[in-house]
Amino acid sequence: MGQTVFIPRELDANEPRVAASPDTVKRLAGLGFDVIIESGAGTASRIPDEEFAKAGAVIGKAGDVAKADVVLKVRRPDETELKAYRLGTAVIAIMDPYGNDAAVDALARAGVAAFSMEFMPRITRAQSMDVLSSQANLAGYQAVIDAAAEYDRALPMMMTAAGTVPAAKAFVMGVGVAGLQAIATARRLGAVVTATDVRPAAKEQVASLGAKFLAVEDEEFKAAETAGGYAKEMSKEYQAKQATLTAEHIAKQDIVITTALIPGRPAPKLVSAAMVASMKPGSVIVDLAVERGGNVEGAVPGQVVTTANGVKIVGHLNVPGRVAASASLLYARNLFAFLETLVDKTAKTLAINRDDELVKATMLTDGGQIVHPAFAGKQAVMIASAEPAKPAAAKNPALPKKAAAPKSPGNKSKGIA
Ligand code: NAD
Repeated sequence: MGQTVFIPRELDANEPRVAASPDTVKRLAGLGFDVIIESGAGTASRIPDEEFAKAGAVIGKAGDVAKADVVLKVRRPDETELKAYRLGTAVIAIMDPYGNDAAVDALARAGVAAFSMEFMPRITRAQSMDVLSSQANLAGYQAVIDAAAEYDRALPMMMTAAGTVPAAKAFVMGVGVAGLQAIATARRLGAVVTATDVRPAAKEQVASLGAKFLAVEDEEFKAAETAGGYAKEMSKEYQAKQATLTAEHIAKQDIVITTALIPGRPAPKLVSAAMVASMKPGSVIVDLAVERGGNVEGAVPGQVVTTANGVKIVGHLNVPGRVAASASLLYARNLFAFLETLVDKTAKTLAINRDDELVKATMLTDGGQIVHPAFAGKQAVMIASAEPAKPAAAKNPALPKKAAAPKSPGNKSKGIA
């Protein structure tokens, strides 16, 4: 049959990752797909075209997207890219839809079946597809490496004939996937590590990694974890208590790594300018939440800022992309694991079951409509003011013609994933 999977080169200058690896190309071929990789797609992840070719891919050009039944990407395609996509193409990427209504609308108007990998439910069956975990894990590691690189002292305690170097004190704020890996990495480098979170479950995990837990453990704390395992936005009162508790602690730290996020909300502000000012010269803060508004006052996306008192605030963008060669391999496997569930293995063809819970959770647009419940209402308004969409039929979707969508803000808003 020969259905085609296309993997483009990412257009965002800040995106070195790629959505396939030689390993997943082989696996895709095994599922019966023809695989086309845009020339240069893997270069920034240290995968040359030849490696993809050896694995069985055809090396192509951007325009080959027009042949694709499936497009695997890292970031959401923008309106210009979408013009070349065929109606009905399945597009699997980190779609970053929150706050990007116009871009989601553009996906619907392009008539593609867009899947948002970051909406994958955190259930056992989908663990191998969890891009948030695979990428946040590397971001947590890299945050400590970046902190160590900026920190102009040694991290481990060293007892030498010439005297003793004290161990660095590191404080990790937010202990989800990234925070746990940051704790483990900082411990391996010899730092004395403490950590905080608003979810009670984090307490034991922190202790199991040999770090000390510090948090305001009141009634609100006991109820801070949602059924999905994420944090809730805490009350002003809780935040004030948390700030009082952490202020004194932060003043004594050499390294602070912040990773706190709340799904669909701006990142909580955890470190104030006054706390930064209380730290010693040469201290380093890494704000992994900088792309979601930041946990640290004074953090600037994409910059390393040095404050008047000599504290460095690191606000690197796309931290998993700083370890792109590792991040791409894991990301590619996440995408493959999901795509495999969308394939009829006997017929060797794409067969998207819209009743499957993974599809329901991740599908953003389908048949010209925004179908995800978190965004569907918004589109109805937009369509009404522009062009009426025809309802999608199960077998032969009646897709609306591609129309000029409101200008997309592009892929500028990113999470740590
Ligand atoms: P996340 O990226 O949404 O947030 C990072 C951390 O910030 C979280 O631990 C959160 O509690 C914390 N946080 C939020 N507000 C805070 C505040 N005001 N102060 C301090 N900390 C704050 O989280 P994540 O890494 O996606 O992990 C969320 C949960 O999901 C964790 O319990 C994790 O173990 C779990 N998880 C489960 C699976 C699975 O079952 N397959 C996979 C990955 C993660």
